[in-house]
Amino acid sequence: DMVLEARNLSKRYGNQKILDNVSLQIAEGEVVVIIGPSGSGKSTLLRILNGLEDIQSGEIYFQGRKVEANEQVWQKLRPEIGMVFQSYDLFPNKTVLENCTVAPVKVQGRKLEEVRGLVERLLEKVGLAGYADRMPSQLSGGQQQRVAIVRTLAMQPKVLLLDEITAALDPEVVQDVLRVILDLAEEKTTMLIVTHEMGFARQVSDRVIFLDRGVIVEEAATDKFFDKP
Ligand code: ADP
Ligand code: ADP
Repeated sequence: DMVLEARNLSKRYGNQKILDNVSLQIAEGEVVVIIGPSGSGKSTLLRILNGLEDIQSGEIYFQGRKVEANEQVWQKLRPEIGMVFQSYDLFPNKTVLENCTVAPVKVQGRKLEEVRGLVERLLEKVGLAGYADRMPSQLSGGQQQRVAIVRTLAMQPKVLLLDEITAALDPEVVQDVLRVILDLAEEKTTMLIVTHEMGFARQVSDRVIFLDRGVIVEEAATDKFFDKP
């Protein structure tokens, strides 16, 4: 079944074409990587799929249903289409646990006790057992990004959008974060990933989409994509 689908998306900023007739589909359990030069529109595409940018034309479907372009609809949908950003932006004055429970409790109306249990299991899974009561400033960038991943997973999204989540990290902690995503892929978490890490892209994905100047110029199964001369 298709979890997320984009049909013929086009996006302009003023006169500049950012995305030109972009279509893609992500099936349940699939991991799709988007690669392409800087400025090719990768981040804009992910932001559109999370309702953070308007579009001039095209349609988005979530679990087979067309997503109406209005903020109320997107507010309901965002927990289902979890996004993790390059800048992890944890609330600085909340603990790790509070950062991860606030949206499930306040936005989704779930019980704190239930969410806390889930968050504690997720923290353990990303190698941060025992960090629930720390403040973000006490953590390294790599640890904060892993908390940001837990914060998104705590909403139990149907699909994860990852936008260059290691780009702002010190090189020595990048692998700790990528390891978490590889584990999620192994568990068949549905993901759409923008990354510059080619080794990781090859390892993690089922399919690769190459975006250049707002156009999908190539799309192939990962093995085929990387095996060409
Ligand atoms: P990528 O993620 O592939 O590096 P982006 O989606 O960030 O590319 O950007 C695609 C293009 O859109 C770039 O030319 C960038 O300068 C432009 N762009 C991004 N955000 C804005 C904005 N808010 N206003 C105007 N232009 C923008
Ligand atoms: P509460 O509902 O408990 O008051 P808020 O959601 O209002 O918590 O936010 C708590 C603090 O986090 C505020 O100081 C707010 O400015 C800050 N904050 C809100 N959004 C962000 C964000 N995206 N990144 C970092 N800090 C944020």
